[in-house]
Amino acid sequence: MKVVEVSIVTPNGPVYTSEAEMVSVKAKSGELGILPGHIAMVAPLAVGAVRIKKGSYTEYVAISGGFLEVRPDKVTILAQAAEVSANIDVPRAEEAKKRAEQRLQQRQDHVDFKRAELALKRAVNRIDVFKHTR
Ligand code: ATP
Repeated sequence: MKVVEVSIVTPNGPVYTSEAEMVSVKAKSGELGILPGHIAMVAPLAVGAVRIKKGSYTEYVAISGGFLEVRPDKVTILAQAAEVSANIDVPRAEEAKKRAEQRLQQRQDHVDFKRAELALKRAVNRIDVFKHTR
């Protein structure tokens, strides 16, 4: 069976490495599905889930934006933060979500608003991705 090597790397080091039959990511331009043999490309990623299909199982990894690099035999994701679903601390994400929602209600300056919006996206993404833990 054809496979592609997947690695997810953050400033704290590698978070995930495996072979997969398919990798799906949330690019800024929309969902992308990558199969082995895909042409080389680079794309910016949104806050979202990376889905890694291995046989009958799909592993979910939360990423907080970054870059995708595809070569025919390898998919590399560079992310500021990434967590495999089983490693997500849900109470922490719930707290982060609450804090971000409070900040958004206070309607401070534009910079704080943008920052709170992004924090909210990261927290909601983590909570969603955790739901896919085996
Ligand atoms: P928080 O306010 O809870 O720190 P955050 O979105 O600001 O959330 P990040 O700056 O994205 O956090 O991440 C900082 C580090 O903490 C990263 O290494 C990230 O993987 C980890 N991390 C953040 N939230 C969680 C979580 N809910 N579960 C597991 N790891 C997390």
